[in-house]
Amino acid sequence: MAKPVIMTIDDEPHVLNAIARDLQAHYQKEYRIVKAGSGEDALQTVQAFKRRNDPIALFLVDQRMPSMSGVEFLQEAIKLYPDTKKVLLTAYADTDAAIASINAIDLDYYLMKPWDPPEERLYPVLDDLLSDWLASVPVPYDGIRVAGTLWSASSHYVKEFLARYQIPYQWLDIEKDAAARELVEASAEGRPRLPMLFFPDGTTLLDPELGTLAGKVGMSTRAKQPFYDLIIIGAGPAGLAGAVYGASEGLRTIVIEREAAGGQAGTSSRIENYLGFPQGISGADLARRAMTQAQRLGAEFVTTQQVTGVRTEDPYRYVTLSDGSELSCRALLISTGVEVRQLDVPGIQPFIGGSVYYGAAASEAVYYRDKRVYVIGGANSAGQGAMYLSRFASEVCILFRGDSLHSSMSRYLIDQIDGTQNIKVMLNNEVTAVQGNEHLEAITLRNNQSGESETVPADALFIFIGAVPGTRFLGDLIERDEAGFIYTGQDLIRNGRRPGNWKPKRDPFLLETSVPGIFAAGDVRHGVIRRVASAVGQGAVAVSLVHKYLETV
Ligand SMILES: Cc1cc2nc3c(=O)[nH]c(=O)nc-3n(C[C@H](O)[C@H](O)[C@H](O)COP(=O)(O)OP(=O)(O)OC[C@H]3O[C@@H](n4cnc5c(N)ncnc54)[C@H](O)[C@@H]3O)c2cc1C
Repeated sequence: MAKPVIMTIDDEPHVLNAIARDLQAHYQKEYRIVKAGSGEDALQTVQAFKRRNDPIALFLVDQRMPSMSGVEFLQEAIKLYPDTKKVLLTAYADTDAAIASINAIDLDYYLMKPWDPPEERLYPVLDDLLSDWLASVPVPYDGIRVAGTLWSASSHYVKEFLARYQIPYQWLDIEKDAAARELVEASAEGRPRLPMLFFPDGTTLLDPELGTLAGKVGMSTRAKQPFYDLIIIGAGPAGLAGAVYGASEGLRTIVIEREAAGGQAGTSSRIENYLGFPQGISGADLARRAMTQAQRLGAEFVTTQQVTGVRTEDPYRYVTLSDGSELSCRALLISTGVEVRQLDVPGIQPFIGGSVYYGAAASEAVYYRDKRVYVIGGANSAGQGAMYLSRFASEVCILFRGDSLHSSMSRYLIDQIDGTQNIKVMLNNEVTAVQGNEHLEAITLRNNQSGESETVPADALFIFIGAVPGTRFLGDLIERDEAGFIYTGQDLIRNGRRPGNWKPKRDPFLLETSVPGIFAAGDVRHGVIRRVASAVGQGAVAVSLVHKYLETV
């Protein structure tokens, strides 16, 4: 932690220098002495300190200054630093103003000029105040701080991104934290956008694109080379496994991920059935471990870039990224998994990302302490989300349109839900409308057996209602089923015949698509079992098939 600051402000240079000299002599070991020649200059410095979250222990300010008096300065400064000790330096004639400010701004002390000898008239008073400050002020947080409102969707996406990469941050809710609100107003310079991010180096980002944020926290958003042996699209479990095996087996491998590593698994608060983790593991933790492992073995990652197109020019395969750049490779692995299905209900759009969330229980649950939340869905992801939310919310209600969870949810989760007092399950129910002003306040439910509707209060909605494959960017290059899932291997052989434009004199390999050298693994494949272990297994197998393919070209 940086040394706490003692700040002294006076417009008369000889007085300022004299007090600063005395402060240095006694306090410079434990404190940083900072001086300013006017209240306005001092306020700017205070704002800069706040952006870095540097602690200020004491303001020692002259009352009589021409454009901003000592009291006026303190009135502004304590909005950002409410716990800092406040001492006014006064002449005899200003005693009345000093006494009045004891009540108005909770002044801690006023010192009469001159303060000589400091051993008697300055240090004992300040020692007392500083030891009081040290005892009562918590150590300030020295990591990234994110200031926003719970209802701002962009605040949610930033928090989600940081949480997915397990980057620690402190959340400052400006609706509840007056000092944070002041800091945002002072730093945003009239641009009313959220969230505002404060970094330990004193820099800020206002409502950043995820790519900008990724770059700021040290992640790569651009490829280092134009050509690779293997390009992997998507850093879910399948892509991460592909990266570990590809890099460890000597292929120049790059993974392109549009959001955060981990894919769907990365949004899970606890994965309990993945081999080797008897207590379960959070998806973010699993993703971080896998990404670190792949990087250590030599794989490159580019994040916050979406692949928008794929083309071939034999023997090479090309991908276009969302920034317009193009990369080429010898073999391509598509592991883009699935995307959440949207809930089509009137009025829902304005609340998405701020009180209505798609599968985001892990990063938002903590903000719904003692609130009433609803989870929509009947599969494992909904069950896990509900279990996690139940640790914070006063009441979690699972809404499912089917008449039993048993056909769609694992037994262990159903047992956990049954044993959790604050989770209620409402079967045969659907959400037909949502209501609220700034954020969600109520939802309308319809019982699909009785046909009856009711409107109930709700603080948040967490939606887990299935998924669609992430394959639109492929155009008509690769054969897919009606829902968009990719056919691979023997699924491509119909009536003993290979796909239309297939040129090699062999059948497609197990995970190969209708285009030779382009492979698919994980949830994006047709007819696959959607599990973390299954995706990881396919990612690993795909790499051995890539080797086989490369031997043939
Ligand atoms: C909340 C939740 C909980 C779950 N819990 C479990 C569990 O406990 N146990 C279990 O076995 N399974 C669980 N599953 C299922 C499991 O997570 C998935 O089967 C698994 O993540 C599939 O991995 P994947 O790599 O195929 O795809 P995904 O995990 O879907 O990853 C695909 C990745 O590709 C990226 N991507 C997509 N399109 C592009 C593009 N055009 N350009 C760049 N990147 C792109 C996505 O952003 C994503 O990161 C859970 C799923 C969810 C949603």
